[in-house]
Amino acid sequence: MRRLLIAGNWKMNLNLASSVALAEGLKKAVAGVNDIEIAVCPPSVYIHAVKTALAGSNIAVGAQDVYFEKEGAFTGELSTEMLKDVGCRYVILGHSERRHILHESSELINQKVIATLKAGLVPILCVGELLAEREAGITDLVIRRQFDGSLSGVTIEQMKNVVIAYEPVWAIGTGKVATPEQAEEVHVGIRSMIAERYGKDVADVVRIQYGGSVKAENSKDILLKPNVDGALVGGASLKVDAFMGIINGVK
Ligand code: PEP
Repeated sequence: MRRLLIAGNWKMNLNLASSVALAEGLKKAVAGVNDIEIAVCPPSVYIHAVKTALAGSNIAVGAQDVYFEKEGAFTGELSTEMLKDVGCRYVILGHSERRHILHESSELINQKVIATLKAGLVPILCVGELLAEREAGITDLVIRRQFDGSLSGVTIEQMKNVVIAYEPVWAIGTGKVATPEQAEEVHVGIRSMIAERYGKDVADVVRIQYGGSVKAENSKDILLKPNVDGALVGGASLKVDAFMGIINGVK
């Protein structure tokens, strides 16, 4: 049985004080929630403070990106070792904002996925189609390209530790959420891509999250779908009540 993973992507929001306050509020609110894995991904400059505020809780911390080199002259970048040093467990990779605003290619994302897995961190690999691609009927093709490109060279053993987040770009930060049926359909497709390449046993354990305007009001029906193993939450992860509304709906 796959354990749900609900992760909050704080993006470039909050400041030091509000990040710590949110972490403290969540720590109190999730006491007693043991059957769901919960993670928060603060801006990198606040990871250490958030991790410290969460000490003793079962909330994991993740980063929103990482660079693939271990160390050296890479101005502005962070390594997997640095993320481990401040207590990260997860790394979001290939988020649509990085693919489309910062023009990250699947090849670069692939290098980051490999480095993340080698370091023993868990990548949350985001895939998802643009509205025009969905309307053109090429959602499957787009997801397959991102899947193949981003996971090149990932071994069977490594794949078991990958989390995939299906995030239709048209649903991120727009308030337009995929229907539970639309999410389930793409998740089934992703699971069969995993099975094709890595076998059914691996496909059965890989967690596939849905992301895109998830909030308490719509999360339960999506998270009840058999192939939806969690949620990657942006806006609704910035307030204790909103994030807890999603968690409490399925706990
Ligand atoms: C995200 O940032 O990954 C996301 C899904 O954002 P939102 O929930 O705000 O749509």
